[in-house]
Amino acid sequence: MKLLNVLVVILYSKLSLANVNVWNYREHGPDEWPKEFPQCGGKQQSPIDLDTTIAQFNKDLKPINFNNYDQNLLWNITNDGKSIYGRMINPSLIPSINGSNYRETFNLIQFHFHWGFNPYQGSEHRLNGSKYPLEIHLVHQSESGNLAVIGFFYRLGRTNVKLKEILDAAGQTIFKNDMIAINLNLVHILPDFDEANKNGYFRYMGSLTIPPCTEGLIWTVFRQTVSISENQLVKFYSNKLESNHRDVQPLNGRILQISVRTSNSRLPPLKQQQQHKYFQLSQQNVRKLSAATNQQLQAQN
Ligand SMILES: [Zn+2]
Repeated sequence: MKLLNVLVVILYSKLSLANVNVWNYREHGPDEWPKEFPQCGGKQQSPIDLDTTIAQFNKDLKPINFNNYDQNLLWNITNDGKSIYGRMINPSLIPSINGSNYRETFNLIQFHFHWGFNPYQGSEHRLNGSKYPLEIHLVHQSESGNLAVIGFFYRLGRTNVKLKEILDAAGQTIFKNDMIAINLNLVHILPDFDEANKNGYFRYMGSLTIPPCTEGLIWTVFRQTVSISENQLVKFYSNKLESNHRDVQPLNGRILQISVRTSNSRLPPLKQQQQHKYFQLSQQNVRKLSAATNQQLQAQN
């Protein structure tokens, strides 16, 4: 009996290890993910279409504070074949977010990008049905293990000088575990935060957009965009990883909120009860999230 248990454990751990690498955006693409990762077939998945006609204005969605985002920090840039990632090296001050209707402060743990194989697609979220060519995800975690992700869209426009440094570094680390260290001030690759808050953001409860697609993440996507040139976009999709975006998922009754009143979202404010329900995360989900994040970080390191 003991031997059987040991065998089960070995088999299970081998399966788990295999699972970490089996998914991709080609033959083991998003449609196949739920077979290996049941949570990818869940009811609260990301990304979604950010439809202003159904978004409900919530006056409690105050401006988001981006603390220490304006620091020059040393970042490790890597391309692991799934995305281009940035992770801080011994930060003196950790960038964090609070404000909004967040109940805690969330520390930045990494950023990464999603793109497509031409300029007409690439973002994971859609805005009123339309895709942008590129989307950045800034992944934050609170001390209690909750995850809050911020997304910004990039629009086709002028060259983004600081993104060039990231792309040059990423070009040297394709499909290797090499990391290239660069000095980066995040404000140079993101929109002006005051402007972005003024123009508003969407909020909903969703998931990781990659396996294991863990749910319970607090998602924020801003309407304010950042510019990137077509030449820079080509650098994203001309590396071996030509596309890494998941299609939009059904809302399944979830509430999409928006922080500003827009001309086509004149809907009544949320009821008190719905606001409260919105941020309840069970301890079980907190543990699951922490485990999933650690697993992802290990897989990516
Ligand atoms: Zn992402």
